Amino acid sequence: MPERVSVVENILSANDRLADEIQHQLNESHVFAINLMASPGAGKTTLIERTIEHLSGLFRIGMINGDIATSLDADRAAAAGAQAVQINTGGECHLDAVMLQQGLRKLDLTQLDLLLVENVGNLVCPASFRLGTHKSVLIASTPEGDDKPYKYPGMYRGVDALVINKIDLLPYISFDMDRFRQGVEILNPGVITFPLSCRTQDGITPWIDWLVFNIQNYREK
Ligand code: MG
Ligand code: ZN
Repeated sequence: MPERVSVVENILSANDRLADEIQHQLNESHVFAINLMASPGAGKTTLIERTIEHLSGLFRIGMINGDIATSLDADRAAAAGAQAVQINTGGECHLDAVMLQQGLRKLDLTQLDLLLVENVGNLVCPASFRLGTHKSVLIASTPEGDDKPYKYPGMYRGVDALVINKIDLLPYISFDMDRFRQGVEILNPGVITFPLSCRTQDGITPWIDWLVFNIQNYREK
């Protein structure tokens, strides 16, 4: 068992080194990057589309999508007006720094202000692989249930912001927002949350404002 543990540690530390290189590369081109993580169907791509629609007049936006197969999500981001790159992970259930670096080679970073990275839909291992992005965001959605922070603590613990999507469905489902928030608070005290609906656009403005604030703050450094 100790040998196996050290192999895993070596993989993660190699990933971390590459993640640091990626952040350096992004900083050289002044590109602010966000790692978006969620379970399948939480609305990552839809949130990306809305975000591009709101911000494309202000910033030049790129999108890298990691999916096990297909380029459907990157196509949607491109249609919304972003430079979009698809990474098919070949069965891997998360993005790692090597895959992100390959994706970055296909983008012209000098022509970007904001990079949105859509991770593979999964609430477990994406949390273990740093990508070198400046912020990580988890998108939860109400139909997944209010127990998810309790079941996937690793994912909730490390993120900089939490989007709670599909609040328009709250009248129709049994999702206890207080129970959900209590679980989040234990794991990630004070984390900023954005309850919103990508469909109705309710609550979308605070999310957009948070992005604008962070991009401007990053540029002033
Ligand atoms: Mg998607
Ligand atoms: Zn994985």
